[in-house]
Order: sequence, then C-alpha cells, then structure tokens
Amino acid sequence: MKRIIIAIDGFSSCGKSTMAKSLARNIGYLYFDSGAMYRAVALFCLNNNLVNSDGIDVNNLRSRMNEIKISFEADPITKNSITLLNGKDVEKDIRSLEVSRIVSQIAALDFVRADMIEQQRCMGKAKGIVMDGRDIGTTVFPDAEMKVFVTASAEVRAQRRYDEIIARGDKADYNEILENVQQRDHIDQTREVSPLRKADDALLLDNSHMTREEQEQWLLTLFKKITEEC
Ligand code: C5P
Repeated sequence: MKRIIIAIDGFSSCGKSTMAKSLARNIGYLYFDSGAMYRAVALFCLNNNLVNSDGIDVNNLRSRMNEIKISFEADPITKNSITLLNGKDVEKDIRSLEVSRIVSQIAALDFVRADMIEQQRCMGKAKGIVMDGRDIGTTVFPDAEMKVFVTASAEVRAQRRYDEIIARGDKADYNEILENVQQRDHIDQTREVSPLRKADDALLLDNSHMTREEQEQWLLTLFKKITEEC
C-alpha cells in the first residue's frame, strides 16, 4: 500500500497529539510532534537566559539557533515519543506552564519557523508519517494526502489540559490554563508567518463531544478511504 503523509493541525490542547499518536501506532507510521520542537526552542531560551522582562532576546536567539539540535526517540518501555534537546530528554520540561507562556512568541519568529520547517520536511522525506501542529497541512506539507483540522471550544480544551496535569500529580489552576489557551490561539492565528488556519483541503473535526475511541475510529476510517483511493 502506498505510504502517505498525514497532517493533523488545530488549536492548542484539543487532543491532536493523542489522536495522532494512536493513529500512527495503529497504522505503523512514525509520529512527529511539531509543537514539541517549538517547545524545545522555548526551553533552550529559558535555560540560556534569553527571556527577560522585555520578552525574548531575539538577536541572541538568532545567533544561537545552530546550538539547538532537536530529535525524537521512542521510550523503550511505553514506546511513546520522547523529545531530545541536544541529546537530553526534555519531554517533561517542555510541557511546563513556563514554556507554554512563551512558546507562541517564539513560534512566531520567522527564523525559528524556517529552521523547524526544514527539519520537519526532512522527517517526512520517506513518507509514512503522522505529524501534528499548526501549519503542517498549509506550509510544511501542503501536498499531504490526508489533512485534518481539529478544533474544540477553549473551555473544553482548558479542562482537558487541567485534567492531564492533575492526573500527572502536578498542581494546576483552571483559569490560568484557560487564559493561556486563549492567548496562544490568538498569537497562533494572528502571526504573520504561517498563521494557524485550516487548509482548504483539510477535513474539519470538532471533537468537543467525541470520546477518544470515536476520534480514533474517525481517523482510521478516513485513512482507509484515502489510501484505498491512492
Ligand atoms: O502543539 P503544542 O501546543 O505543544 O505547540 C506549542 C506551540 O507551538 C503552539 O502554541 C504554537 O504556538 C506553536 N506551534 C506552531 N506550529 C506548529 C506547532 C506548534 O506554531 N506546527
């Protein structure tokens, strides 16, 4: 069967990664979390004093982009994808609220996007991948054979994020999370470079009232239909 590229874009915290991961596992494709790459750049900035009260030290970050190497590997036990920043496992650190607060500003920088997009295209060279993000179907892989745009209300998304953090055993404040989700939506949709928008040929999936199993089934059915047509 012909191997294809699957682009799953959409708003923050709408469960894209969970559904993309499970689809990749079900069909034997590789999964790539493009948001984790922008988060890793944000973590690099925090760890290297490139964030101050005025915002991001953009010039310094530009000159240090060549020090940022992002890769993924599979956890030997859970098989989940782990994000590595310069060879170090940063999977947990990149999910902090501190990173979430600055990541969208960093993702709006043209030189950061150019660098990430180049790496993302390399990951898709052999096809057979599922990648989730904001601009995968519009900019990174405009010719992807399967494109899905996922959405859910900001409140539903904030609640899911809250539940995830609590389930991990960490503390969380629902209102703070909701504010962050709304702020990131705004920055992602209004930035000049590669703003978040549905590709014309993407299928819309509003999963506000869908169970995880229903979403998995929806994606699997679509995948089968598209690959049969290819
Ligand atoms: O997907 P996640 O919420 O982890 O992504 C973190 C941030 O990275 C997003 O809020 C967005 O600003 C940025 N991002 C992006 N383009 C992508 C993936 C993520 O701008 N393809």
